[in-house]
Amino acid sequence: MIKFDEKIRVIGFDADDTLWDNLPLFLDTGKLYCELLSEYADNEVIQTLMDANEQRNIDVFGYGTKSFMLSMIETAYEISDGEVDSYTIKKMIDLGKKQIKEPIVLLNGVEEVVRALGKKYRLVVATKGDLMEQERKLARSGLAEYFHHVEVMSEKRSKDYARLLKHLDIAADEFLMVGNSLKSDILPVLEIGGWAVHVPYHTTWVHEQVEGVVKHDRMFEVESIRELV
Ligand SMILES: [Mg+2]
Repeated sequence: MIKFDEKIRVIGFDADDTLWDNLPLFLDTGKLYCELLSEYADNEVIQTLMDANEQRNIDVFGYGTKSFMLSMIETAYEISDGEVDSYTIKKMIDLGKKQIKEPIVLLNGVEEVVRALGKKYRLVVATKGDLMEQERKLARSGLAEYFHHVEVMSEKRSKDYARLLKHLDIAADEFLMVGNSLKSDILPVLEIGGWAVHVPYHTTWVHEQVEGVVKHDRMFEVESIRELV
């Protein structure tokens, strides 16, 4: 169990792979995508090119399924030397549309935790991704009523958190962030003087990986989000 610092007034939650499953949807779509292109290359080759295109496209279009769909189309064009047919492209768009409509699967204990903490703290969601997609996910999650504010950020760097804290009108040491990504949820918050709870997800997205072990006196590591209450 964590004993929260008494200064903490606001708790921020990451959404994808912290409140609900997300990465497995992309991995499943990725497998079906590779099958569509199997006549041109094997999965590993497709995946490597896809990862590179995805990173570049995130820098231009941001996170989320729409950006992912554009990366699928671009990668298909490149891997097939321009041979890929329009019917296959249409199937890729359908894969993205299907993914957006998948049901939201809350992670174990999430609802109890936000309900309990919401009685004592102001709760906010701080998530990267596409505005409409993230808002729709939160609405469908059934969790929206527990949060005072939802911030959909194009990036989660320390300056982005500093802007959020200014908006919330709180000091950094009054803020605790809960999330699965060391890179996006934990390190930038520690850097500006906030508190952080790392709840690792069973798998880490290739674009969120960090080297080494992170230890900090304002950071806690828990196995389950249930340990927050
Ligand atoms: Mg996450």
